Amino acid sequence: MMKTLKYSRQRESIKDCLAGRTDHPTADMVYTCIRRQFPQISLGTVYRNLNLLSELGEIQKLTCGDGKDRFDWNTSPHYHFVCRNCGAVLDVALEPFGELLIKAQEVFEGQVESHTVFFYGCCQKCMNLT
Ligand code: ZN
Ligand code: MN
Repeated sequence: MMKTLKYSRQRESIKDCLAGRTDHPTADMVYTCIRRQFPQISLGTVYRNLNLLSELGEIQKLTCGDGKDRFDWNTSPHYHFVCRNCGAVLDVALEPFGELLIKAQEVFEGQVESHTVFFYGCCQKCMNLT
């Protein structure tokens, strides 16, 4: 009972760490944040909780090709940009293309349910450095 309570409290704090952040942190970054409140917590526990939360649909897991999972409190469909220079993952203020799904369904025999888009390039911050 105590254990369950503690775990759900940790999970709540993990969600709090993510809330409102637009930098799409990795498990390591969330771990750094959560350790201030739970100094004994392990990276493995943080990682497990993040995965559980994404399975529950309470957060979104982003696998954008750099080998590190990113986490997003914003579960509504939206697109992301990945900076090839610094690795930053940023939101792209673009309405998801519903038509893309329809087009895919037209040429695919199975049931198409969703799609993900990652744009790649150089972020504004990195462009200002050059
Ligand atoms: Zn960058
Ligand atoms: Mn996002």
